[in-house]
Amino acid sequence: MIPYVDLKAQYHSIKAEIDAAIAAVLESSQFALGPEVAEFEKEFAAYCANRETVGVNSGTSALHLALLAAGVGPGDEVVTTPFTFVATVAAIQYVGATPVYVDIDPESYNLDPGRLESALTSKTKAIIPVHLYGQPADMTPLLDIARSRGIVVIEDAAQAHGAEYKGQRTGSLADLACFSFYPGKNLGAYGEGGAVVTANPEFAKTIRLLRSWGESRRYYHDLPGFNYRMEGLQGAILRVKLRHLERWTEARRANAALYDLLLKDSGVVTPREMPYARHVYHVYAIRTPHRYALAEALTAAGIQYGIHYPIPVHLQRAYRDSRYGEGDFPVAERIAGEVLSLPMYPELQRSQIEQVCEVVRQQVSAQALRV
Ligand SMILES: *Cc1c(COP(=O)(O)O)cnc(C)c1O
Repeated sequence: MIPYVDLKAQYHSIKAEIDAAIAAVLESSQFALGPEVAEFEKEFAAYCANRETVGVNSGTSALHLALLAAGVGPGDEVVTTPFTFVATVAAIQYVGATPVYVDIDPESYNLDPGRLESALTSKTKAIIPVHLYGQPADMTPLLDIARSRGIVVIEDAAQAHGAEYKGQRTGSLADLACFSFYPGKNLGAYGEGGAVVTANPEFAKTIRLLRSWGESRRYYHDLPGFNYRMEGLQGAILRVKLRHLERWTEARRANAALYDLLLKDSGVVTPREMPYARHVYHVYAIRTPHRYALAEALTAAGIQYGIHYPIPVHLQRAYRDSRYGEGDFPVAERIAGEVLSLPMYPELQRSQIEQVCEVVRQQVSAQALRV
């Protein structure tokens, strides 16, 4: 069996370091925030071009607090992509704002800045580009438009730790950036986790207050806040894992390069690394109009796969909105109907990638005979 991800293999490769870090937290018994979280924040800030980092309990909480810190609320519009995980849109709704969608670029699968201007209104308060699958959105044209209108830009970098846009790391590309440390993400905790990264000390201060009940000191509440604290154990685990992140990212990139090579001219569309990007391949998604036939062949061969995501957010039942319907974002809708994510993690072996590609090639040629 080839799993889609293998968190256990990664744990075993760093077991001694992790076990020691966990034991130290148990001994100190600093379970909510505490010194390990504070150290992780400094180290992750250094990793993200020295921006300030505030650790929270999930990527969704990071998005929620980033929007609140930026002053987004009821009556405001927030522009984003319909081709994302629903958390991006959920966070916009949490603050009472209205999501407005812009279709995606057919090559990068990220928000198409060429279509941005027509989605802006006098109510537009923020834009959330999502660095989908680990590839940064095209930020320069997006930021130019946002700056000229005083609109805040928040990166959804939940899938893009260490990715680069024109040589600059995600987390440092806009006003605020939100990361997820969900276990399956490129930098994953052993539980839930997230962070907001920003160069704006006022935003950082507000987010620090909001994540822990708005408390400026014990039982003095300056803002109505949340219980969004990062756990001490997760801070300690993330510190260990951050030290390995660049090596793991290079392994993901090497795996992607091997997939690219072995699937060249196979009949499926492989991901395109844009000229401005360092893609970190959180997801390696191929495209075929015969996705479900391919999925069946993979399952029969004992190979797990993912679909990120089968339905764009504007067509999800929970996020339906009378302003939008089928056909409104044709690029996102077409691509959502064709993507399939192949196994991708740093510990994936060459022989496993060869096996996956063999199944894809065989299935695609069998499909060609059928039609
Ligand atoms: C994972 C993810 C989130 C949410 O992060 P959680 O830590 O699961 O709350 C938000 N946006 C995107 C694009 C994601 O992939």
